[in-house]
Amino acid sequence: MSEHQQDFSRHQSLFQTNIEMASPSEPSDSWLKEMDITVHDLPYVRDVLLQSFEDWMKETGELSFSKRSGWAVFDHEGAYVCGEKTVHDAITGDCPDLLRKCVSTHEMVCGVVENAGRSAYAGQRLCLVPVLSRNGRLLVAMLACVLPPDRRKDAGLDTVLATALHYQSCFYRRYEYIFVSDVMKVQRTAEREASRRSLLFQIMQRMHDQIDVDTVLTEVLDSIAMLYPSVELSLMMSQDHQHSNPKVKPLVFHPFGEDICVRAFMDGRLTVQDCAEGGDCAEIAIPLGGKQGIYGVFHLKMSRELKEDLDLQLITMMIDTAGNAFENAKLYEQSNLLIHELRLINELTQRLNQSLQLADIYKLATGELLNIFNADFCCFLQFNEERSMLEVMSCNEPSLSKDFFSKDYGFGGLVYEKKEPIILSDYHLNTKVSSKLMEVTGSQSLIATPLTVNGKVIGAILLTHRSPHFFSYDNYRLLQTLASHIGLSVSNALLHAELRRMANRDMLTDMYARHYLDEAIQHSQAKDFCGSLIVVDIDQFKQVNDTYGHQKGDNILKQVSEILKTSIRPVDIPARWGGEELAVYLPQLGVHQAMKVAETIRTRVASETDPGVTVSSGIAEWCVIDGKISVDSLFYRADMALYRAKNSGRNQIQIEDMNE
Ligand code: GH3
Ligand code: MG
Ligand code: MG
Repeated sequence: MSEHQQDFSRHQSLFQTNIEMASPSEPSDSWLKEMDITVHDLPYVRDVLLQSFEDWMKETGELSFSKRSGWAVFDHEGAYVCGEKTVHDAITGDCPDLLRKCVSTHEMVCGVVENAGRSAYAGQRLCLVPVLSRNGRLLVAMLACVLPPDRRKDAGLDTVLATALHYQSCFYRRYEYIFVSDVMKVQRTAEREASRRSLLFQIMQRMHDQIDVDTVLTEVLDSIAMLYPSVELSLMMSQDHQHSNPKVKPLVFHPFGEDICVRAFMDGRLTVQDCAEGGDCAEIAIPLGGKQGIYGVFHLKMSRELKEDLDLQLITMMIDTAGNAFENAKLYEQSNLLIHELRLINELTQRLNQSLQLADIYKLATGELLNIFNADFCCFLQFNEERSMLEVMSCNEPSLSKDFFSKDYGFGGLVYEKKEPIILSDYHLNTKVSSKLMEVTGSQSLIATPLTVNGKVIGAILLTHRSPHFFSYDNYRLLQTLASHIGLSVSNALLHAELRRMANRDMLTDMYARHYLDEAIQHSQAKDFCGSLIVVDIDQFKQVNDTYGHQKGDNILKQVSEILKTSIRPVDIPARWGGEELAVYLPQLGVHQAMKVAETIRTRVASETDPGVTVSSGIAEWCVIDGKISVDSLFYRADMALYRAKNSGRNQIQIEDMNE
């Protein structure tokens, strides 16, 4: 085998190897073999041509044919790319037509280097071999070769062709390498993105699993710290900064100065700057917000170099997630609080509604409030119209129950007069209001609220505790809510009492009705020693009506009633007996004492009524020693005495005749 033939077979085997490497039996990457360059790639292949020439040189450098020949590469348009300068000179100087020919025909063209004496290759054959694309349609480059001197005409041409094929395979190897590394780069970016997403997803899931505000913030702080351990991290909260995590601090709004956190909070935007104190330091502020507002700002401090490496997009996404999770957790917390409050209100009202007695309601409410707020003492004050003072209606401090206070005294007075609730954390620091409740019970904390019935403040509720700073703002708010419900129950009880009072009263005279008088006498007979009944009847009332009209008659009836009511003791019971007949029951008085009262009434009626009328009265008494006397018989006997008074000329009083 000649030297040329040996080289040729070496080239072929090399080429073969490349082919085998490039087209493995696995069909999975056969697509890569079908990849080909297009006309659009041509302007960018210069580097590839150069690198593949270097590869080719390394692989064929030891072959004698290669060594003895001169090589150069030209691009698809005939511009020199790389290789021996002498070859380039020989082509451009002696055979410029060859380049043009090869470009247009895509076929190997050969000539002879002339320029005798000037070129080292003078007289040698020069061939230009097209390097085509895989599909053979595109001229990728041209390989120029100055063949070693040989007497034979076509000696070495096959080897040049094989060399060109080898160069083509080197070119495609490079081309595929670039393509594959591009694909891998895309793949790597996608993987990074995927891992970022998975990390974010995990963090997000963990955060959304948290329904506790504190844990949500700790989760995001820990996640950032885990990703970037050397970043100095803190969270500035505008409110609710009492978190267990020491990295959570209050966001302080300075009236002056350019704090990055305040700026980020105000603008609601990520803010980056070099540290104000200088040095190799940068700081980033990222607002923590949800749909309803911004709650705080994450502050990150790090070296400038690390800042460049920071995946800000990831951190921002994490913080956005944290913002939403935080908001959800807060809403959850608030709704839990509301549910708890609603449950308390429901239970409280259910219990209060079990009674319609005012005293029961105050007593029950006192117990309930002590329980709900864990308070030490609870007092209910109600304004007493008659005494124009605040009356203690219920209190778990015995020395205060049934007490009366001036309506401008103490915290009760303050709440009643100002109609506003109070929260006091430390009575010792309070210098303005003195309070018997606080002093007697040794309390230091207080929450108090007005007690309102139908929009009118009727009293106050006071809750105290011996420790300072005991009640929270939520306690203070809850008491106000509960107070309005207690107010409703109080209002019901007051209405009920009024209804009862009205049922026992006569509308015209505002005196007790007859049935009430019956009950009162029975009640008195059960516990007293004696009692008297005076029956009072207006004389010639029919005539009064006839003279002045019925309306005036009513007015006179009222006047007489008023005289009667103001002529007796508080324990005596005045009643409208029926028509224009009135009665008064005097517990523990005998007929003779009753006589004096009746006489007062008689004289006052005669002198005070206008138009003037007179009254006649009959008196009867009962006494334990006489044995049981029925209410009916007491009435009957008084009536008989009245009858006698009428018959004896009116405007007089008759005592029952014991013999009757
Ligand atoms: P006397 O008792 O002195 O024997 O004479 P009298 O005219 O008062 O007689 P009597 O007691 O029988 O009459 C009661 C009258 O009182 C009849 C009725 O017109 C009048 N009267 C009863 N209730 C009312 C009332 O609520 N308003 C008014 N204006 N008149 C009443
Ligand atoms: Mg009468
Ligand atoms: Mg009469």
